[in-house]
Amino acid sequence: MNKLSRSQISAIDQQYIWHPYSSLTSPIPAYEVTSAHGVRIELSDGRQLIDGMSSWWCVIHGYNHPTLNAALHEQVERVSHVMFGGLTHEPAAKLARTLVDLTPTGLEKVFLCDSGSVSVEVAMKMAFQYWQSRGVTGKTRLLSLRNGYHGDTFGAMSVCDPITGMHHLFHDVLMQQVFSQAPRCGFDDDWDEAYITDFETQLSGHCDELAAVILEPIVQGAGGMRFYSPHFLQRVRELCDQYDVLLIADEIATGFGRTGKLFACEWADIAPDIMCLGKALTGGYMTLAATLCTEKVSDGICQGEAGVFMHGPTFMGNPLACAVANASIDLLLSSDWSERVQDIQSQLQVELAHARDFANVADVRVLGAIGVVEMKQAVDLATIQKAFVDRGVWIRPFGKLIYVMPPYIISEDDLQLLCHAMLEVIASLP
Ligand code: PMP
Repeated sequence: MNKLSRSQISAIDQQYIWHPYSSLTSPIPAYEVTSAHGVRIELSDGRQLIDGMSSWWCVIHGYNHPTLNAALHEQVERVSHVMFGGLTHEPAAKLARTLVDLTPTGLEKVFLCDSGSVSVEVAMKMAFQYWQSRGVTGKTRLLSLRNGYHGDTFGAMSVCDPITGMHHLFHDVLMQQVFSQAPRCGFDDDWDEAYITDFETQLSGHCDELAAVILEPIVQGAGGMRFYSPHFLQRVRELCDQYDVLLIADEIATGFGRTGKLFACEWADIAPDIMCLGKALTGGYMTLAATLCTEKVSDGICQGEAGVFMHGPTFMGNPLACAVANASIDLLLSSDWSERVQDIQSQLQVELAHARDFANVADVRVLGAIGVVEMKQAVDLATIQKAFVDRGVWIRPFGKLIYVMPPYIISEDDLQLLCHAMLEVIASLP
């Protein structure tokens, strides 16, 4: 096939391609990427950008990593894809065992799927089917937190924030779920039982119709980039037990070290009944997600009338994705990721503290390898994206939030460049 020129790619892109959350009538520019190495993305005009986003939070080891490349090459020579119905393979078996070993105690069954949103759908279906199988037919709804985000498919949208979230347009056609206030306590705040009052009110008031609570542990990501107290999560676990409601932890964004613990549930030393993983699972190489559940949940489902769990995506357990996930997890565990994330946190705390001096900044928050500057006003995405590209960094804000979630391998100098670019751009905003 003939190679396309840069201008052809740009023209085709603008004419035909629908980018995430974008308009086709007034598209904002998409920069063409030709390659990526380490923490740098190379554009077709030769410019190199330090990636502050880890490509939507998944490229934790950086791009073009020799170990991950080798794992993919090796697997592609064996089998790149095979249906998972009735067939299995070593990469999936190894991955399932590893995930069971690493995740909080009790999560022992692994459902492999192809994206974070689907893993949330699977979690919701597991919760629903668990109660149905036990003959408890009224437990069909979920309790979610305001400011929560769980994905873009219909089930997942129904548990995202119904008012400030990005899916309010669909509100009338979504399953009507129950919502409690977003946690009002910051990560380090002293605990006050008042912080959990609204959650308990919603849970106790609706427990007969609630199959599960779903939340993002410790970090509410795309719904506002907020961190909350581990104590809140502990109380949620206790209350779910008390009112006989399952707990789903959506660790799609927080899993694999991002908050400074391997899984954010560890901050509160709790184990959910169901856990969703995705994003960094393959180090950002392939699309893969997983939903883990306890034996109580799997037994409940399988001993019911249906006898089976009713879900089976075509690309379930894709061998390439599983092989690269295994390599990525091995790489993470054999690295000093915990010290690295701690160092990133310390540096972000020092560098981003300067943003507090700007009149247009509402708040600065840092946890693990996540640094957030919340502006008083929403920023114009196209303008600000260009301002960052002009400074040699890739940062894509949303709403009022300008944030970085860099690969863990980022050097001190590169992180400094990222932070300085953030501060410069923030200083130039009204
Ligand atoms: N849950 C959370 C917490 C997420 O951050 C995301 C993605 N931002 C999703 C679910 C959806 O994952 P995906 O985009 O892979 O469908």
